[in-house]
Amino acid sequence: MSDLVVAHLYPYEMNIYGDTGNVIALQRRLQWRGLAARVEPVSVGEEYDFSGADIVFGGGGQDRSQLEVAADLQRRRDAVHEAVAAGTVFLTICGTYQLFGRRFLTQAGEEIPGIGVFAMDTVGGRKRMIGNVVVGTPWGDLVGFENHSGRTRLDPGQKPLGRVKKGYGNNETRRDEGAVIGNCFGTYLHGSLLPKNPAFADEVLSRALRRRHGAGFELAPLDDTLERQAARMAAQRP
Ligand code: GLN
Repeated sequence: MSDLVVAHLYPYEMNIYGDTGNVIALQRRLQWRGLAARVEPVSVGEEYDFSGADIVFGGGGQDRSQLEVAADLQRRRDAVHEAVAAGTVFLTICGTYQLFGRRFLTQAGEEIPGIGVFAMDTVGGRKRMIGNVVVGTPWGDLVGFENHSGRTRLDPGQKPLGRVKKGYGNNETRRDEGAVIGNCFGTYLHGSLLPKNPAFADEVLSRALRRRHGAGFELAPLDDTLERQAARMAAQRP
């Protein structure tokens, strides 16, 4: 019996800088509370019904990998929009985050179409944005690692995930990071994000658990001393 179903989008193509650690963190944080998640891979060419998923996760990838999955993601466009509108929880990192915008124009000049969940466009630049990031969000400071050529511009009405305190985030100039619409999150933070940001991991889990099991569902607290130590270390790195 699983308490939650986690759909893992393109686990082979879109998985860099430890992104799969996010899925493991979701599973473990449930397990430590006597709960369980079933992880279902969603691969290119396979049929998948998003209405059965509570959380959909998609990691980062090189431009080439993004090109490999782009057509398959297009074919799922309506299904993903419906799931977002229905309140399914999504966490998309870097390469998948970019594909949840309208388009990514790569540095090589290829246009990779996105599915337009987030009101934003991404354009590749020559200088890569690499390094440790600290972002102020409603769930406290998130720490992570970024490595991307794409500069993302949110439309004026598109809410970011947070404000950059260290690093680049969406682009070099605006200090915004990631995007949020309802229960759908996008971010440039790898590294993995959820193991060192336990409050945010629990936010993702709580949203999904409340939607599935009722608004009163409360996660039991965990001892996050080690996780907080990891976050402090990451925040101090240059
Ligand atoms: N290929 C994209 C870029 O360079 C995304 C990279 C990533 O997922 N880290 O912008």
